[in-house]
Parts: sequence; structure tokens; C-alpha cells
Amino acid sequence: MSERTDSESESRKLLRRLRDTLAEPGKGQERLDRITHIIADSMRTEVCSIYLFRDADTLELCATEGLKPEAVHKTRMRVGEGLVGRVAREQRPINSGNAPAEKGFRYMPETGEEIYSSFLGVPIQRLGERLGVLVVQSKEARQYSEDEVYALEVVAMVVAEMTELGAFVGDDPAMAALHQQPVMFRGGVGQEGVAAGHVWLHEPRVVITNLVADDPEAESIRLHAAVDQLRLSVDDMLSIAGSGDAEQLEVLEAYRMFANSRGWMRRMEEDIARGLSAEAAVEKEQSAARARMETVPDPYLRERLQDLDDLSNRLLRILTGQGHDTGASLPKDPVLIARNIGPGELLSYGRKLKGIILEEGSVGSHAAIVARALAIPLIIHAERITTEALNGDYVLLDGEQGVVHLRPEESVAAAFHDKMAMHAKALQRYVSIRRKPALTLDGQTIALHMNAGLMADLPSLSGSGAEGVGLFRTELQFLVRSQMPQRAELAALYSRVLDAAGGKRVAFRTLDIGSDKVLPYMKREEEPNPALGWRAIRVGLDKPGVMRMQLQALVRAAGTRPLTIMFPFVAEASEFYEAKGHLDHVLKQEQKLGRPVPEKIEIGAMLETPSLAYAPDRFFESVDFISIGGNDLKQFFFAADRENELVRRRYDTLNVSFLQFLEQIVERCNATGTALSFCGEDAGRPVEALCLAAIGFRILSMRPASIGPVKHLLRKVHLGELKAVIDDAGRLGQASARGAVIEHLSKGGWAL
Ligand code: PEP
Ligand code: MG
Repeated sequence: MSERTDSESESRKLLRRLRDTLAEPGKGQERLDRITHIIADSMRTEVCSIYLFRDADTLELCATEGLKPEAVHKTRMRVGEGLVGRVAREQRPINSGNAPAEKGFRYMPETGEEIYSSFLGVPIQRLGERLGVLVVQSKEARQYSEDEVYALEVVAMVVAEMTELGAFVGDDPAMAALHQQPVMFRGGVGQEGVAAGHVWLHEPRVVITNLVADDPEAESIRLHAAVDQLRLSVDDMLSIAGSGDAEQLEVLEAYRMFANSRGWMRRMEEDIARGLSAEAAVEKEQSAARARMETVPDPYLRERLQDLDDLSNRLLRILTGQGHDTGASLPKDPVLIARNIGPGELLSYGRKLKGIILEEGSVGSHAAIVARALAIPLIIHAERITTEALNGDYVLLDGEQGVVHLRPEESVAAAFHDKMAMHAKALQRYVSIRRKPALTLDGQTIALHMNAGLMADLPSLSGSGAEGVGLFRTELQFLVRSQMPQRAELAALYSRVLDAAGGKRVAFRTLDIGSDKVLPYMKREEEPNPALGWRAIRVGLDKPGVMRMQLQALVRAAGTRPLTIMFPFVAEASEFYEAKGHLDHVLKQEQKLGRPVPEKIEIGAMLETPSLAYAPDRFFESVDFISIGGNDLKQFFFAADRENELVRRRYDTLNVSFLQFLEQIVERCNATGTALSFCGEDAGRPVEALCLAAIGFRILSMRPASIGPVKHLLRKVHLGELKAVIDDAGRLGQASARGAVIEHLSKGGWAL
């Protein structure tokens, strides 16, 4: 027998002994102790220790064979501290014949480890989730062989799985504490609101129960059969995709490349030879890829590793026969947790969800757009939540602060429920003023409209008390599809929107794509600065076929009913005239075909770049209305990317210069008698909304949920006084009027 085969069969024996330990009854701690004993015995080392994470930064010695037993549950170290801490931080093995001479070595006197020279530590991790460190030590000063390192990594994989399965929890309180702790996550706010509910994992993990296998040959045959099936399914996907979208093809080609990769197969074969089952081998390589993913800075390579990850999941599902459906049923109050989710999938859950928490995503991602449209609180960038959360865990989501409490402590939950009760009470208050006007103390009436984008939004029109839809984002219908919608389909949809609006005005904004909103089926070039690139009306004017198709759909949907259309992102007047030219053409064509046309058409422009504020008077006279897209306008005024977490909150909307700039637009519109509204997110933030009204805006369009709070405050404010406060802040040279405004409002005894 070769040395290699020898060590493989040793390894298999060891794994079998571990598996048997798992099957035996016993408390968590007893099992851990037995495991360290078995590993030390089998690897012929004097010491074997298991360190597990106590919290995100601290490791704790949880079991040992060879070190002093008193040190168990006492010795702790930070990630990065000592050799064990370094293994945890770097997520790769450290193998040293002379540990005390190693960089970063830290001597822990209570363990009695000073007599051991050699040290081998490997990470205990599963699918990128760091769980702990497995260490063997010997007196003899020697490097462990490559084979031994590999063998210990395979063992660590099994220990990881046991840890995850809660094999060490038992009824031992010290161990139980490691696994059911409350965890708090900080993320970004995708959609405000608070929610409490139970975790629903969008893509539950494949559960592997047979880690260790007795018959490597049989496992190898299973692996090959599953990989063959996987290759066929990838080929199928490729032939269905045909010559379609380049990006989709690229992903599928990458899938195919991995599915045929010899290196990947070889590594999994080796894992099997050492005693892992086929699925455990797949997962071991998947975990290694995830660990690499965390360290690779190149976004292209990261995406490829992500492809490998997806492919591994497919392979696991083939091997285990587990589909996405694990048999778990959706809780009554589901809070969806996912790495990321597409808009279509989110829509299929609909309003059933109480909240959404994503590890990735961005404020402008399609999922965020849909969550906003459905008014479901959304937290993005909650790192590692999919690995921490289990189906059914209780979770609190604070979409005001961007905080998630998983398995919260009672005191946290109690404070949170108070907050939710306050919200509910406030909502009650808003219902009572739903039919009342937003009439200020100095007799100004502000028209409050709502933003929408889906048919599902329309019921909010009466529920919120909105006077109309000030912004209908038509791109959502394009974003949630896998191919360009047909004109007839769009016409039917717009017509239903108008029906549902029951005569209230709906301002349809033509397709606003580009920047962060990318249509999967529309070919486009990579752009260095997409927010400044080929987007919105620029795309429409360069692709008049698409623009006219949409305009025709709108005209047909309206029939003879009044129709309001606005063009997004107009940077100079000529773009508006050209777009209007397309509309005139469409109207003439319709008339020529003998079709009805709207009895009244309002055509507006969105002012989203500072340039348009300085357009000639003629422009202001020729538009029926102007709507300020505050999200984009602010982004360009301050040159601060609205999608970039590092800068997006850096500049205040109540910055005095910005308010003065907005006021100039109000004045220009007043001078030409042009209707003006404001429809960015700021219109729905109560203090901002008051200030916009104070500087002269009479129409605000916002998320339906904001209408109540904004109206409530408007009815208590004297706009003239507030305007004086803002002007004073400017005269005093303050950067932002916020401080002065809040002080003024608090004097009025307002709880904001
Ligand atoms: C805006 O820019 O303020 C706006 C309303 O448009 P969107 O957020 O869709 O870009
Ligand atoms: Mg915009």
C-alpha cells in the first residue's frame, strides 16, 4: 500500500470514529471532549483543541486533549491574537515546527502549552461562516506533512458540520450559549419602517446529514453521476438561452467551465478518498471557494467564484434530492432573509412579507424598488445574516436605524414593541385626517400626491388620502420582466392603472432606465459613470422605437381620458422638445388610424440636473409642469452618488445653498406660471417636506406611507414663520438650516 493510500485509509477510520461519536448519546461537552481525544489519538499528537467563536471577535477554548482541563471555557482570544487568532482571521492553516518562534505567538500560561513545539491550526468553517479553529500540537519539533494538514482540514469540515448541527449544544448551558445568542446586525436602509416576525430563508441551505461515508467508490460513482446530470442541465440552459443576452450567456459559460473543471473534480475525489460523502466533498470545496471569495478584490473574479458557489448548490440539490422546498411552511409573519433577491421573486411573495433583510443589494436595486413600492421595510448589507439566521428565528427589523435584532433579548424586544406600538398609534392618528386637506396655520394648502410604480400600489391611493399619483415609475414593469414588454401588454396595464385611479391624476414618467436600473434584455455598454451616462430620456431619444412604443401604449390606455406624461432627466430644453415631438407624432398617427386620443394631455419634464434650472424662459413656458426629481438633483448638486453608502448621507437636504437653489426654481416657475412639484424621497420626510413647503412648493409627491405623517405636521405649521427661520439660518452663515428648523419646531412642542 502506498503512503498516500495508507493515510487515506487512516483518515477514513478517523472520520468513521467521529461519526460514531455523533451517533452516541451524550451531552455537548462530552462529545467535544471525545472528539479531541479521538483526533489526537488518530493523528498521534499529544494535543488536540477545539476553539469556537463566542462572539464575532472572540474565540474560546471549548475542549482539549492534552492542555490543562481548567483552561476549558476560560482561555479566550481575539481574532488575530496569537496563532489561533491568526488562523481565524486569515482562514488558512498555520503549520509550524517551532510555534513559540512564530510571528504573533502568544503564550497562554493557564493552558500549559509551553512544552509543545509544533503547532498545526486549521479553520473550522462552513460555507464561508467562520466557526472556530482546530489545533493539534506535539512536543517534537517538526513540521506536519502536507498530508496531515489535508487530513486535519477534512476533520475540521466534519467538526464544522457537527457544530452547525448543534451536536455540541446538548443541554450544556456553556455550549448552548454559543449557539442561541442574540445577534445584532447593522445595515443600510432600503425602505423605512419597523417589523417583527419570524425568519423565512429565501434559499434555505441544503441540509447534509451523511458527512462520512464508508464506501469511497460508491461515493465517487454518485459524484460522477450527479456531475453528469449537472453538466446536462447547464447545456440545456445554454441551448435555451440561445444567442440571447450576453451577460446571461457569460454566466452559463462560466457554469459550464466549472462543471467541466478537472481541478474541481480532483479535489472532490480526494475528499471522498479520505472518507467524506459526495455531498460533504462538494460542500468542502464550496466552503473553500467562499473563503477565497472574501479575500478576492477583483469584482470579475468574485463573480466567477459566486458562479461556482451557485453551481455547488445545484450539485448539492441533485445529490441530496432537496429542492428549494424544504417542507417548512411560511410563518404567519415572515421576514424574508436572503443574500439577494430578484424583483420578480419578491413580487411573487407580495405583501405577505413583514420585512426583508438582504446581505447584498443596494438602495436603488430592483429589489429595493419593489420593496418600496410594496411598502415593506427593507434592510440591505446585513452582512452574514444568512449564515446566522435559521428558519423560524424571531427577528426585529428597524428600518429607521438600519438595525436587525436576531433572536433578541427580552429587554430589546420589549423596547422594540413599544416603538411599534407608537408607530401604530401614529397611523391611527393619520387615518383620522385622511380626508382633510394639508392646510397650514397660515392658510396655505399643499397638495400631497403619491409615488407609485406597480399595480399593487394603486389601492394606497384611497388608503393614504393622496390626491393623485405624482410619479408613476413605468420602468418597474420593464425591470421585472425577462424580455421587453409588448405595447398591447403595456397599454392594458396603464389602462388598469387609470381605472384604479378612478379619475385622479396619474403622472406617468416615461422609461427611466440606465444608471442603476439595468434591463436584463437590453444590450448596453459598460460605462465608467453610469449615473452620468446613457440613461432615462437619453436612452429614449437614442432609441425612438422604444420611446414611441411606450407613448403609444400610454395614449391607447387613456383613450379619451385625460393623460399626464413626464419625461425624466431632462438636462436641456432641446431634449424635452424632441421627446414632445415624438409624442406629437404618435398622436397624429393614432388620429390617422381613427383611434381616440385623450381630450387633454399634460406634458411635463423632470428637473433632475442643475442645468435645467437655468433653461431659457421659453422652456418654462412651454412645459405644462415641472417635477423635481430631488434624489437625482441632490446627487448632482453635491456631486455625491446617491447609491454610495460612503457619501450618500454626507450632505444635508436642508443645506442652505441647496434650499436657495430650489427656491430659485420655485421663483422661476412662479414667474412663468408653471406648475411645480417635488417628487424625490425628501418630499416624504416630514421635516424636509415642511421646509419644501416653506420655500414655496405647493405639490409634493411621496411614498404613500409618508402622506399621513407629512400632512399631520403641515396642519400644525405656520409656513411664513418657518421660512423666516430658514432665511435667518442663511443670514447667520449656517451650512444647514436643520438645527434652527428643529429648534423652532420643538418650541412648538412637536414630537418629530
Ligand atoms: C428622483 O431622482 O428624485 C426621482 C424621483 O427619480 P428616481 O428616484 O426614480 O431616479
Ligand atoms: Mg431620478
